[in-house]
Amino acid sequence: HAKRNGKDQYRIYDDRMTLEVTDIIETNAGLRQAIANNELVVYFQPNLNLTSKKVMGAEALVRWQHPTLGLLQPAEFLEIAEKSDLIIDIDKWVFGEVARLISEWQKNGEDVADIAVSVNFSSRMFYMPDLSDQLKTILEESGCQPHQLILEITERDMMRDYDTCIETIVELRKQGYRIAIDDFGTGYSSLSVVKNLSADFLKLDRSFIQDLDTSTLDYEITRAVLTLAQILDLRVIAEGVENQRQLDHLCELGCNKAQGFFFSKPLPVEGWLEFLSEHR
Ligand code: C2E
Ligand code: MG
Ligand code: MG
Ligand code: MG
Repeated sequence: HAKRNGKDQYRIYDDRMTLEVTDIIETNAGLRQAIANNELVVYFQPNLNLTSKKVMGAEALVRWQHPTLGLLQPAEFLEIAEKSDLIIDIDKWVFGEVARLISEWQKNGEDVADIAVSVNFSSRMFYMPDLSDQLKTILEESGCQPHQLILEITERDMMRDYDTCIETIVELRKQGYRIAIDDFGTGYSSLSVVKNLSADFLKLDRSFIQDLDTSTLDYEITRAVLTLAQILDLRVIAEGVENQRQLDHLCELGCNKAQGFFFSKPLPVEGWLEFLSEHR
């Protein structure tokens, strides 16, 4: 009896494996097609200066408008893309699209001179030795300037090859881009690494903000990160602010930059421009 059970289990496992592999192949090929067919879309989530209550900019977040499955979130397709250089194609496409849009807004008379848009880059982007040249070529086509763009790398990705990332970050900042360390607090960096971090922003991970109103520990950790950031001359953006209580605590702690559903969900481009005109 036990043997039969074992055999059945094996069969189920085997079927799942096959399904998973098919899935990966299909989505990977589909994703390549998606870039060529212009099925990727950029959404914009505004971030705010809490002191002036004005919009500072937005984070560009990719979506896949799938012909049959509808609007897909990054969690549904980026993991597969990150397994190959496909993620580089996606990140470069998002970067180019954002640069193109910023120039378009400027041409249309939108007042976006002081607005910066952040773009998420995977570690594979940061490991390309000619990244800054490649970005220059893309920007030249668009007419957008590096100071309007903030490049985000997660703390976790950075720790995979810290030395290479730091070299790239130094070069990119020389070119006029600003750098944000994303999901800060979840990536196991040591204080000696953080000490030598030549970035512009720390984005404090949503997990610390989530229980800010109930957890003394998260409150004190947030306070400590803010102090550390001040010493290192980095600006902190709190991620994932969802309610007034979290916002009150952040203000109390002197954190003056935030992003989250409490202000706005990621919006399609028209929605973002509307939000911008209402909050400047
Ligand atoms: P991220 O860079 O940390 O972006 C923030 C994510 O948190 C977004 O999810 C956003 O919708 C979500 N978020 C914002 N405010 C709140 C909130 O108040 N509550 C909650 N629960 N969530 C909130 P999204 O758009 O699904 O993106 C997930 C991740 O996918 C991003 O995390 C980023 O790491 C990655 N990603 C998105 N677009 C790109 C891209 O173009 N390239 C690369 N390499 N990664 C991307
Ligand atoms: Mg990000
Ligand atoms: Mg984040
Ligand atoms: Mg994240």
